[in-house]
Amino acid sequence: MKPKKEAFISEDAKKVVKKEMAQMKKAVTVVAVMSAEQNKPFNEFCRKLLTELSTLSDKIKPVFEAPGSAAARKYGITRTPTLLVEPDRYAIRFTGAPAGEEARTFLLAVLMASTGNTVLSELSRERLSALKDKRNVKVFVSPTCPYCPQQALLAVCAAIEKKDLISTEIIEIHENKDLAKQYNAFSVPQVFIDDSLVGLGLQPEEVFIEEILTAAPVKATAYTGTGSTEMDLVVVGAGPAGLTAAIYAERSGMKTVVIEKGNIGGQVAITPVVENYPGFTRIGGKTLMDMMAQQAIQYTEIHEGEEVLDLEKKDDLFTVRTSRASYTAKALLLTTGAQSRKLGVPGETEFQGKGVSYCASCDGYFFKDGKKVIVVGGGNTAATEALYLKNIGVDVTIVHRRDTLRAELFLQKSLAEQHIPILWNAEVKEIRGGKFVTGVVLENVADQTTSTLTVDGVFVAIGYVPSNELAVKLGVATDDEGYIRVDKGHRTNVTGVYAAGDITGGFKQIVTAVGQGSLAATTIFEDIANPYWKTGTAAS
Ligand code: NAP
Repeated sequence: MKPKKEAFISEDAKKVVKKEMAQMKKAVTVVAVMSAEQNKPFNEFCRKLLTELSTLSDKIKPVFEAPGSAAARKYGITRTPTLLVEPDRYAIRFTGAPAGEEARTFLLAVLMASTGNTVLSELSRERLSALKDKRNVKVFVSPTCPYCPQQALLAVCAAIEKKDLISTEIIEIHENKDLAKQYNAFSVPQVFIDDSLVGLGLQPEEVFIEEILTAAPVKATAYTGTGSTEMDLVVVGAGPAGLTAAIYAERSGMKTVVIEKGNIGGQVAITPVVENYPGFTRIGGKTLMDMMAQQAIQYTEIHEGEEVLDLEKKDDLFTVRTSRASYTAKALLLTTGAQSRKLGVPGETEFQGKGVSYCASCDGYFFKDGKKVIVVGGGNTAATEALYLKNIGVDVTIVHRRDTLRAELFLQKSLAEQHIPILWNAEVKEIRGGKFVTGVVLENVADQTTSTLTVDGVFVAIGYVPSNELAVKLGVATDDEGYIRVDKGHRTNVTGVYAAGDITGGFKQIVTAVGQGSLAATTIFEDIANPYWKTGTAAS
């Protein structure tokens, strides 16, 4: 008996793709320039992907071309694999295989090219209509970066909305290391407009649209709309606490919206592997957050890429102005989490995106062929990131300022099993380099001697600092470290403002965050139904 030929796309994924592609209207030609000699596994990946996709929808029409063919010359393609989505109508190019996280972006690009409809907000579409000049958008991505698909998707949307003016290229850095080097793009996502860097990391949708209009970096956008949407609860932040709170709030009947300036998932989405979240011995952070988001979306609205610009309280009502809309709400829940703590040493800012990174799953891929990196820190994050980097083929060493790790023993055991070296009692004093990182200066804290270590990358994993700007704006009380103070029902000192998750400090675990989210939602429901500040019942 002949062995059964294994399908490239799993049966489950096929079902999902088939359902999504049923929405296609016009047929979409995908021109794939491929070579049998260079980049073999990635060319092979594209051939299999396109061949199987065309069996799932008769509206997907792959056309395979060789480098140097008339079509390759017509579109100026010299690299393989390169995929063009409906090139006679749109200028959307994937340079490198759309693998991993980028596969979904590619499918959405095909779907949107077919319908002509994008996922951009009405406001963004309106702003884009003012564009008069041509723009070329390049987004550097990696297959494991959880932030990249959202940024790439926005760029594809722009190319569909302004098809005569905007060309978009999604560039996979590992397959196109020379391009990444040429653009100094060692961290992803990175956005270049007309070959100038405008954005490092995922940007809110409105910021990105302004960057296309101005072809320059933009810090923030101002809300220019009128009118407001009436909500019971606005949740700021779509990490585990925010998503869980929204599920509980909507189920108890509160009209709720979740506003997230980046992408869904918070810090967990960039955690390569989450260990021991009940129900899962090990699960990818992005996968876990995708599952939570899928569940939450069944109940509540989640607005990704929308930034809260201003918050105001008048009488018992809050006004929340975002980059896209204005909302009124009876209650506010802050689940804004925390952001990576910086080392604060010379070279750190200068080399961010040029070898200094705070996200191994985003940027580790670039170092995977035995490049030498250090992970700084001694907690669970440092251990998890070091294990991930080792696993994808990076030469990794942990640098820790003490002689013991604070990471869980289970993770410490894994570090030993994987033979990951640890430099004890070592503090990074400086990060050095030219165009990119070339080394670090270390100080031995025991005897104050210094030494240099040659490395290609520095992954900083030294904990988090609270993202408390909005809380401070509202007059919410925080502790000495900036974490929001809450009572046991998750009320803050400002009536109607609640907080949950990492922003409240303490034990920062996903299980804790989801527990706090549900508890906060329950308190909010009870408080709105029976306002303790009106009835005189004191908050406990
Ligand atoms: P953390 O537990 O606060 O550890 C931070 C580490 O960085 C510590 O070892 C600390 O050193 C070191 N550090 C702090 N400031 C430094 C500086 N300026 N220079 C050099 N080193 C510095 O932070 P984390 O590892 O990011 O973890 C945060 C939370 O997430 C924890 O609750 C953790 O359990 C959780 N987490 C869980 C998982 C999981 O899979 N379950 C995975 C990742 C994170 P000292 O030890 O000397 O203070």
